[in-house]
Amino acid sequence: MASQPLLMTNDEIHGVSPVDLQPLPPVKRTTPDELAAAVRRARAAQKGWEALGFEKRAKLLKAAARVMLERRAEAIDIIHREAGKSFAQAAMTEAIGPLDYLKNWIGVVRPFVKRKKMPISPLAFPGKKGWVDMVPRGVVALIAPWNYPIATYFKPLFPALLTGNTVVVKPSEYTPRGGIWFQKILNEFLPPGVCEVVIGGRETGQALLESGGIDAVVFTGSSASGRKVLEVCAKQMIPCNVELGGKDAAIVLADCDLERTIAGVVQWGFQNAGQDCGAIERVYVVDAIADKFVDGLAAATSRLRVGGRGGDYDVGPLSMPRQLEIVEEHVADALAKGAKLRCGGKRTGEGFWFQPTVLDHCTQQMKAVAEETFGPVVPVIRVKNAEEAIVKTNDNVFGLNASIWSEDRAAAVELGKRLEVGTVFVNNHAITGAMAFAPWTGVKESGYGIATGTHSLIFFTRPKTTVVDKGSSPDPWWLPMDATMVDVGERLALAQLGKLTAALKIPLLMRKRVAAILKLVRG
Ligand code: NAD
Repeated sequence: MASQPLLMTNDEIHGVSPVDLQPLPPVKRTTPDELAAAVRRARAAQKGWEALGFEKRAKLLKAAARVMLERRAEAIDIIHREAGKSFAQAAMTEAIGPLDYLKNWIGVVRPFVKRKKMPISPLAFPGKKGWVDMVPRGVVALIAPWNYPIATYFKPLFPALLTGNTVVVKPSEYTPRGGIWFQKILNEFLPPGVCEVVIGGRETGQALLESGGIDAVVFTGSSASGRKVLEVCAKQMIPCNVELGGKDAAIVLADCDLERTIAGVVQWGFQNAGQDCGAIERVYVVDAIADKFVDGLAAATSRLRVGGRGGDYDVGPLSMPRQLEIVEEHVADALAKGAKLRCGGKRTGEGFWFQPTVLDHCTQQMKAVAEETFGPVVPVIRVKNAEEAIVKTNDNVFGLNASIWSEDRAAAVELGKRLEVGTVFVNNHAITGAMAFAPWTGVKESGYGIATGTHSLIFFTRPKTTVVDKGSSPDPWWLPMDATMVDVGERLALAQLGKLTAALKIPLLMRKRVAAILKLVRG
């Protein structure tokens, strides 16, 4: 079967469904003039949206998310057709999520954006009070990948809007219909310009970054593209949150609950056909249970239903032909280097389908172990012990998540401290992707961006401090400088070093200082 490339004409994006290669409805591309106008509208709308206040913004967004949920059948249909997911996966991982995810976000954002009074000591800073407001950055560009055509917006879009920014969204050229649907419903509730969408490929993403109207960028995508986006942002001094690739490992120890572990690895290795930044893409299993584990994993994987029409299957097709080619290349490379194929290993069906694949006896040198595959392939690496598993897990350019599967949970938590990743899971994997309150972040080439949780909000906002002075006389350390000031400084230093008697004379000296300052002013 020949790969069908995405076709972009000057005006439109033409794609085919990964399920059966049937053409998808073409989507109009945004022209450069339209892009500039979208950025202008977002900028014009920002101050009004900010002025509305958090509670009103949250209310409008909740109304929109409720309608998205009511219209979930439309979402499922779009996700199924343009990304190839089964109806059940489209529902569970995306279509039923917006309202719940938004409510979670509201709980995270509300305390964060509350004005914080500064603890100003009246002795050290008499007459002064002050506070910090977290104010929005302005217009945020959101550049999205294709692996979750709708849920990809739950992480960056909700907090960006809740904190008072307006957004310009650039969906992936492979899944523009999900982004358009999302924005259309939002715009039934939000003031014009608050959420703009621009359609096109990487050149549209670039034009957006270089439009001169963007204050912050959230980029979710490959590490290679992320690097380029960071360069463009650095030149303009725009903050950029990068959420990049992954190569998550599962470490399977001898005392694990074998059945649950196999079920967990099947879930996190093959859900969404492995096209998750947080998919299990490597399994390190200790020799003591390796045979039993691999037999069980291969048997369960072979029972997964793949292929066919109608949206009822366990593992869907790859969302695009390029992914299919990468998957084939990684499997062929592993087999050429000595891996044993335990199940799968081939294309199947009429779309971009690939059989869920388990490879045994893999090594760190194989592409399927070293590079991001983003497909339904689980390579198993047999190791002597937990120590070897930890060292090999860390021996990778990515560091998003890792999981340890063991009944000794306390020991697993201890081991987890040595993993160079953003999140460690014990007996599960990547579930924090569904939690707005948990920081989703990585290290190394997975990018330093923080997608969720309170820690992420410093990206969508900046602290703005206000200080008000009620003092009627000048502060005693203002100009002019004199010997009294030197004396005060010396006494303050001695007091800090514990010689408190030195401080006794300070109030008197301060009065002398104020008199000297007033003399300067009055002449
Ligand atoms: P990609 O980098 O090819 O494209 C992502 C988006 O960026 C697309 O909208 C694309 O048009 C745009 N783009 C590409 N180059 C650009 C440039 N130079 N300037 C501006 N925009 C540009 O990635 P993809 O293939 O769509 O997505 C898959 C990748 O995303 C995987 O590596 C996956 O691990 C990663 N991902 C990471 C996370 C995370 O949270 N860490 C989540 C989902 C996906």
